[in-house]
Amino acid sequence: MKAIVLHKTDAAPHARLEDFPEADLMPGELRIRVSHSTLNYKDGLAIVRGAPVVRRWPMIPGVDLAGTIEHSDTPDWRAGEAVVVNGWGMGETHLGAYAERVRIPAAWPIPLPHGLSPAQAMAIGTAGYTAMLCLMALERHGLTPERGPLLVTGAAGGVGSVAVALAARAGWRVIASTGRVAEAAYLRGLGAAEILDRAELAAPGKPLGRERWAAAIDSVGSHTLAGALAQTREGGAVAACGLAQGMDLPATVAPFILRGVSLLGVNSVTCPRALREQAWRRLAGELDQARLASMTQTVLLDEVISLAPRILAGEVRGRVVVEVST
Ligand code: NDP
Repeated sequence: MKAIVLHKTDAAPHARLEDFPEADLMPGELRIRVSHSTLNYKDGLAIVRGAPVVRRWPMIPGVDLAGTIEHSDTPDWRAGEAVVVNGWGMGETHLGAYAERVRIPAAWPIPLPHGLSPAQAMAIGTAGYTAMLCLMALERHGLTPERGPLLVTGAAGGVGSVAVALAARAGWRVIASTGRVAEAAYLRGLGAAEILDRAELAAPGKPLGRERWAAAIDSVGSHTLAGALAQTREGGAVAACGLAQGMDLPATVAPFILRGVSLLGVNSVTCPRALREQAWRRLAGELDQARLASMTQTVLLDEVISLAPRILAGEVRGRVVVEVST
């Protein structure tokens, strides 16, 4: 079968589209024919840098797939069922989705949500599903649009674009922080009410600033996350899921102890099945399909290798669907 394979070298991994023997797939009760995948930031990291994402060599990257079950060793799934798989170590410890077929444990897939095609599910992908997990975390914290605006950082990226569209649809006044002010019209088209130059957040700031938003979805980390926390209103919260600026958090405890601000961590990879299914049901019902289409480009499997450095450089707008097999 055709697959992108990463080979370990002394420097960056060597990525190649090649024929990979199906017999070398890893153990699992399900064999799935992959129709579509996506390009996420983590896939870019795997292809360009290998470590720390890739923990097995050779590796087939790709953390997301939509496809059809071809063979099942368990009564829980039948051949012919359409499924979505996000995370669980695909592309990290388990051979991933940039391949015509995967073999995986039966516990990993969820049924393709009603109302979504495989391509639409991958336009959402881990990035979009994580944006929904962030929104749900803020809601569980009791936050509603009446409390004030919601900040989205990394707004023109994958997580950010879906977060803007979802939060606007849920009634929030969305402040979209971006380094690409040229994308202001794109972000307003997704539902942003205000555009913030990311330079305002990306540099070291004061421990506490003006109270500007009640909630935030941050996929950037580092000074940006610190700045988001420092300007969150009394009793508000920030859902943190990413590290596009950096893994550090150069903040003080001031927002927590003086304003009762909360920092909510979001991890999509091993998110329990019930929460995953709830997030995907909501994505199928609440994400405007025209807005999803406006943030999505489609590429072929062999184009992923050249796009990988571009997503790490913050040059990919919105979401990328990868056509794997028809
Ligand atoms: P994208 O590259 O699509 O988006 C990241 C965005 O962050 C960029 O588009 C850019 O937005 C902004 N950005 C990039 N570099 C910098 C910088 N140096 N300083 C400030 N802002 C920057 O990636 P994804 O949306 O796919 O992923 C975003 C992050 O979320 C990644 O770190 C990823 O690993 C993480 N993630 C985590 C998950 C989890 O389960 N916790 C799941 C999915 C993603 P703009 O141009 O608008 O400024």
